[in-house]
Amino acid sequence: MAIQRPVSKVNSVAASLVSPLLFSLVSALPFLALPGNPAHAQQTSKTVQDYPAGYTDTPFLPGGKWRVHDINRPRPRVVTPGTASTEDQPGRPPSDAIVLFNGEDLSNWQAEGRGEEQGNSVAPEWKVANGYIETVPKTGSIFTKEKLGDMQLHIEWATPKNVRAASQGRGNSGVLIMGLYEIQVLDSYNNVSYADGQAAAIYGQYPPLVNASRKPGEWQVYDIIFEAPRFEAGQLVRPAFATVFHNGVLAHHRQELMGPMRHKAVTHYEPHEAEGPLLLQSHGNPVRYRNIWARRLDDASR
Ligand code: MG
Repeated sequence: MAIQRPVSKVNSVAASLVSPLLFSLVSALPFLALPGNPAHAQQTSKTVQDYPAGYTDTPFLPGGKWRVHDINRPRPRVVTPGTASTEDQPGRPPSDAIVLFNGEDLSNWQAEGRGEEQGNSVAPEWKVANGYIETVPKTGSIFTKEKLGDMQLHIEWATPKNVRAASQGRGNSGVLIMGLYEIQVLDSYNNVSYADGQAAAIYGQYPPLVNASRKPGEWQVYDIIFEAPRFEAGQLVRPAFATVFHNGVLAHHRQELMGPMRHKAVTHYEPHEAEGPLLLQSHGNPVRYRNIWARRLDDASR
């Protein structure tokens, strides 16, 4: 049986002061990068060979194609990420983005011809200035030459700083994916309008989960993941889905769409191609856009 020695009160107090300090010093020692420190030596003795790039003897994941940590599973291709935008400066797109507007010209865009040009695509007449494009009333909507379906889309927009109207008359425009499915653009900062028509709404179908609008005149951002609908033999086999972030805030979480945009009507799907142009809506208000890019959804490494 161990004999417990009586400890004096003074020693006991001193011990209670010293021991936490001593303990923290001792416990920190193994992590100090001191020469001769055994723990440090043990850590640095590992070489690249001690860290295998993968395994060939682990169990197969459900589906049987790849093992857990499979050394032969294709690594995702490398993408250099972009940079964030500021109020004064648009950011840089990721390295593999399809740049739809680079801040300089509308060479990737076209518009519906009017008058003698009816039925033809013509060069758009929207204004290009200071790294952005701006709608010009009565010149019509513009749409990309590039056709896109399943994609990640980044687009920035700003409504007029001077507020002149109300409801749907304040900075109305829209991002129409495939020319059909509208994510509404509107000045929804202290602006009451119908919920399924405010900024970031899937127009006429679903209001955004929250109103993350910035003040009129400030640059706002949509980051959208769009899954195009699928048709087979003229029948819808999978509807469209949209995930939308408005200024980094989730507005729609893989929301199933009812069909293309309709005004004052219930929509339904009509068969169409797998890809279509991205369209920016002209609604009579001078709305600006910048830093527009897309990435096709790519699951080749799966
Ligand atoms: Mg609109």
